[in-house]
Amino acid sequence: MTYRCPVCGGLQVGKVGSDQYYCWNCFLEFNYTHGVPNLYELAEDGSLIAIERNSDFV
Ligand SMILES: [Zn+2]
Repeated sequence: MTYRCPVCGGLQVGKVGSDQYYCWNCFLEFNYTHGVPNLYELAEDGSLIAIERNSDFV
């Protein structure tokens, strides 16, 4: 199954975990909960920061 980035719609998406994906275009990680994408930003220390989708980000 091919995943598209929920942000840019691109196909430069790599799988980084069992249910975790990374967009090389946006530099964002994302996964899906019941088909709804959750977006994460990588912090400098390597941790993931959830991105709220109610911003102008969509
Ligand atoms: Zn993207």
